[in-house]
Amino acid sequence: MHVKIELQNDPLESWIGKKGEPVIISGPCSAESPQQVLDTAQALASSGKVHLLRAGIWKPRTRPGSFQGVGTQGLSWLKAAGDAVGLPVITEVANAHHVEACLEHRIDALWIGARTTVNPFSVQEIADALKGVSIPVLVKNPINPDLALWIGALERMDQAGIKHLGAIHRGFSSYNNRHYRNAPNWEIPIELKTLVPGLPIFCDPSHISGRRDGIHEVAQKALDLDMEGLMIESHIQPDAALSDAQQQLAPDTLSQVLESLQFRSSKPVDQQFDSQLEMFRSRIDEIDQLLVSKLAERMGIVEEIGAYKHENNLTILQLERWREILATRTDWASRQDLDTTFIRSLLKVIHEASIARQTQVMNRPPVND
Ligand code: PEP
Ligand code: MN
Repeated sequence: MHVKIELQNDPLESWIGKKGEPVIISGPCSAESPQQVLDTAQALASSGKVHLLRAGIWKPRTRPGSFQGVGTQGLSWLKAAGDAVGLPVITEVANAHHVEACLEHRIDALWIGARTTVNPFSVQEIADALKGVSIPVLVKNPINPDLALWIGALERMDQAGIKHLGAIHRGFSSYNNRHYRNAPNWEIPIELKTLVPGLPIFCDPSHISGRRDGIHEVAQKALDLDMEGLMIESHIQPDAALSDAQQQLAPDTLSQVLESLQFRSSKPVDQQFDSQLEMFRSRIDEIDQLLVSKLAERMGIVEEIGAYKHENNLTILQLERWREILATRTDWASRQDLDTTFIRSLLKVIHEASIARQTQVMNRPPVND
């Protein structure tokens, strides 16, 4: 893919005012009241670990009837809180009116949300509103795993003359993924990094994980992949949050999470090799996770078949079916350049485990009623 982004980014420290360690963006999912924003900001600033204060003002909610954000008044609360604690502030914009309101309120940086990145009309409207304006813009990935769409939004910002451009990886919608709220598909931000060298990429573990206890794992992975920073939601009283309550961290929990993360030190010689290795490993991790969950799903079906055979008095081993399985799968494997002996042995192990499970089902003692 040919990418038309002539990054004119000054180094991150020139717009965030820090160097070395990853940039940490934190603050509530949504601004809810002046006090909530200020209390959160004060707690975050006193930890000394946060560089940019976030809060959503206009909330793109999946279902109507959810909290839609406090609207423009929230910009004054956010800016006042940032001023009070000495932190620059960032919020989400979804249209030209939002951009104008943010500029009027001297908001320091903007991000484009995942539901907006999917729509080139909205992205272009934002780009047009930003022409001639000097403000950092971070573009979240679209909700669907479409790298071209993400790059397209970055190109629109670049063409509008945005000099401080970055991306935020917040994961991708997927149906029925129990581990993540939004699947990370790490290969996509890795590909973005490869196609647009020098583009700062932040990771948003809060929206990827969707739950407090998953944030550390995702954040560590992002750092291991050499991402430039993290955006993590925090709230002075997370359980009472009006949006995304399950994933927001109390400021002191955020401090503990940040404390326990391993920041990679710069190792000039090995660094490139290490991050390449990490990229491959993270793809392997993702595939293995899928393999294991698919095997579990398969075993569930095997069990149902066992019950069916039991009811209908059929043998566990159905030789014809087993032959058919071996023949089709080895055929699929050879079409994909996989060693058929390897696939045969793998199938045998799976088949043995399936038979063992069905034997258990067959031998379950009858239920007495
Ligand atoms: C948010 O950051 O609160 C938000 C709405 O994120 P996303 O666009 O990633 O869903
Ligand atoms: Mn949120």
